[in-house]
Amino acid sequence: MPIKVLSAEVAHKIAAGEVVERPASVVKELIENSLDAGATRISVEVRGGGLQLIRVSDNGAGIPAEEMHLAFQRHATSKIEALDDLESISTLGFRGEALPSIATVSGVTLTSRPSSAVDGAFIALTGGGIVEEGKRGCPPGTSVVVRGLFSNVPARLKFMKSPATEAGRVSELVAHYALAFPEVAFYLLVDRRTAFQTPGGSTQRDVLAQVYGRETAQAMLDATGDFAEIGVSGLVSPPSLSRASRSYISIFVNRRWVQSRMLSYAIEEAYHGMLMIGKHPIAIVNLSLPPRDVDVNVHPAKSEVRFRREQDAFGAVQRAVRAALTDSARGGPVPPVGPLAAPGGDRSFERQLAPVEPVQPSLLGPSGAPAPRPALPILRVVGQVANTYIIAEGPDGMYLVDQHAAHERVLFERLKAQAAKREVEVQGLLDPLAVQLTPRQEETLKCDGEALAQFGFAIEPFGDRTCLLRAVPAVLKGRSAAEAVIDLLDSLDQGTAGSDLVEPIAITLACRGAVRAGDTLTPEEMREMMRQLERTSSPRTCPHGRPTVLHLSSSRLEREFGRQP
Ligand code: ADP
Ligand code: MG
Repeated sequence: MPIKVLSAEVAHKIAAGEVVERPASVVKELIENSLDAGATRISVEVRGGGLQLIRVSDNGAGIPAEEMHLAFQRHATSKIEALDDLESISTLGFRGEALPSIATVSGVTLTSRPSSAVDGAFIALTGGGIVEEGKRGCPPGTSVVVRGLFSNVPARLKFMKSPATEAGRVSELVAHYALAFPEVAFYLLVDRRTAFQTPGGSTQRDVLAQVYGRETAQAMLDATGDFAEIGVSGLVSPPSLSRASRSYISIFVNRRWVQSRMLSYAIEEAYHGMLMIGKHPIAIVNLSLPPRDVDVNVHPAKSEVRFRREQDAFGAVQRAVRAALTDSARGGPVPPVGPLAAPGGDRSFERQLAPVEPVQPSLLGPSGAPAPRPALPILRVVGQVANTYIIAEGPDGMYLVDQHAAHERVLFERLKAQAAKREVEVQGLLDPLAVQLTPRQEETLKCDGEALAQFGFAIEPFGDRTCLLRAVPAVLKGRSAAEAVIDLLDSLDQGTAGSDLVEPIAITLACRGAVRAGDTLTPEEMREMMRQLERTSSPRTCPHGRPTVLHLSSSRLEREFGRQP
């Protein structure tokens, strides 16, 4: 094909795609504009996941009527003039791309009034072109309404997830801006229902209580530090409080919410040896450093930054978090903590997470699923090592079985079979248990509640982002049901909407319900576990794909002991 210059329309749509990826990216740009305009109250509304309608209103500086059309011109901004200004940038926006990009892929109406002006004005655009403008009475501040996002870009529309998922991302985003700007009041309305609200003029810990629940907020440790002109502040979870997903780590650089693998890693490194494999901390970490030391212009959506002195940034974060953790381990200044956290020294952290409970014989009750082929020979149990591994003898040598992984496999297959027949054993709770949810978890519960019910969960909405747990699968007997629900909602959130949820739910439940490393098992329990493992369809791996069994063959043993020439 010969080289051709793209038409303005095509070029603009392509450029818009970089800034506006989904409804949450529109909300992000609009909130940033409101914050840059000095707003102290910002309300956000979405309908139909934001594809139908997004509205962001603020009480900020407003836009003079005669400048309104400029706001929709490409590379028009009031925030910088020259390239050098980026060295001292203190606003969130600066590219002058957001409003024109949004207008290219939707219908936008902007209404605004600077407080000094008597009248307000509005401008309406569709597909990037102005369709109407004029005067309009309104309170001081700015309101942007976006309708029919991507309705003129069918290719992009196809990539949208369910409205509930998109709304969940918006909730998550608003929660993060509320965390970064606790002095600002945020209000989020999803499908005409209040989803989230902060009062403004509060602290990050207060906002965190809104987002992750009061207990979590109380348990969080203060992390602060100063290193090489980099100030670090924030809240990090004690090692006894962790989550199965990395998405509870939030990083703000000069109050900009950014994704940074490097800094996430720095935070997790600080917890080295304190968390179980697969567990991640909850952390809100704020970095403040001279604007010239950080390049914010590396990503069209400004969600990534580059540090001039990466090593220093890494070190500053790691030290501050580590110091918070060691202080708390030494019994340093810890705020009053809820029941989720417990005091303790270094090595006891794992045990706090995984309370040692006697295994219930019922957990190892008979399995209904007959194995199609014996992929594991009949094993004779010899004993238990470190309360973690079962030693067994087979026809060809010795077998070491990871008791947790093996039990996970057994429970996983049993749960899957029972769920298919809707016969999962249920345990009713005498006292219903209230569980605090994040906005995102609440959306996930709305989407996937049906699938959870199939596994015997009876969960009712209880308002104020709390749900009531009335019954749980019996496999969770003796376990923390609240933590299991939170784990489940987080793991479901990472899958794609509409896909089969039976597997991910069964995996999480099996993991939660299985005996743990450290649990003492009786010989009878071990024998029963081996019988059941032998009958599973894939006895050699746990549902996560890790091995359940290590085999030391007779010939290998002979070789190792020099019994063979
Ligand atoms: P940028 O934020 O990068 O400058 P935008 O396209 O997001 O570019 O906005 C263009 C301009 O419109 C801003 O520079 C600002 O002057 C004005 N503007 C946009 N939103 C608001 C708002 N909520 N309040 C006041 N001014 C705004
Ligand atoms: Mg902007």
